[in-house]
Amino acid sequence: MGDRREFDATLVTCQSWLLSTNIDCDESLFSQKLWMALDRTRYMQSAKTFIMVDRPFWKDKVPDAARDVMSMTVTDRLTCGTYLFDLGDDKPGVVCLSYSWMSDALKMLPLPVEQRVQLALDTLQKIYPKVDIKRHIIRDPITVSWEGDPNFLGAFKGSLPGHYRYNRRMYCHFMQRDLRAEQRGIFIAGDDVAWIPGWVEGAVHTSLNAVWGIINHLGGETIKSNPGPGDRFDELVPPALPDE
Ligand SMILES: Cc1cc2nc3c(=O)[nH]c(=O)nc-3n(C[C@H](O)[C@H](O)[C@H](O)COP(=O)(O)OP(=O)(O)OC[C@H]3O[C@@H](n4cnc5c(N)ncnc54)[C@H](O)[C@@H]3O)c2cc1C
Repeated sequence: MGDRREFDATLVTCQSWLLSTNIDCDESLFSQKLWMALDRTRYMQSAKTFIMVDRPFWKDKVPDAARDVMSMTVTDRLTCGTYLFDLGDDKPGVVCLSYSWMSDALKMLPLPVEQRVQLALDTLQKIYPKVDIKRHIIRDPITVSWEGDPNFLGAFKGSLPGHYRYNRRMYCHFMQRDLRAEQRGIFIAGDDVAWIPGWVEGAVHTSLNAVWGIINHLGGETIKSNPGPGDRFDELVPPALPDE
């Protein structure tokens, strides 16, 4: 509290909604068109619930059959996706009991972790009536609802039809040559700035753009034989809509 520092450039990589909620961000740092894009970003909900278990019990064999008693399970029941992390036969393993999105994740949002685990176990019991998952649990479970975390407010961007213009404004923001002086020096990156949200690839792409923008802002440049994204911007820029 009370600490104030000055920087020549800033790179913001958190969800864009945080710039108008958790972070006190001066309105003059972005144009109104960009604020509109940042605020209209549409985030998807997502929830995961994990347990740690004594061993990878799912590799036990079904009697009189060669198959495992349990395997990675994608279902339209409550759990949606169940994933099994095998760290060695004689080592504890991890089960992601449930990985859900959107309305399936909203079903979990108000529930405490114990209830999420119980619901998931009840669902899996119906699919695997002979497997007693509960007796293998060795630690307190962990759960995350990204939309319920004030430092996220959502899992990842899920653009809607009509959002191309907003995406383009955010994606191209690293090219700051036409911005007003007070709007230069703050850069944004992350999967909500990218065209391919939900994948780290988009976060990396937009970070590379932002790094180029920062180098340029600080007066540096890339070597001629290895041009950066801003050097080739005019050639590769995503097309603007006629009314943009
Ligand atoms: C449920 C889920 C599943 C995913 N699955 C995949 C997958 O299978 N494959 C894949 O490639 N990608 C996946 N992704 C996407 C991937 O996680 C993201 O693309 C990547 O994490 C984005 O990296 P980032 O550094 O831009 O942002 P983040 O990893 O989101 O990091 C942003 C950080 O900023 C912090 N922060 C927020 N506010 C502040 C503040 N005021 N001050 C300081 N720090 C702050 C946040 O706490 C957070 O740690 C998934 C994402 C989610 C949510």
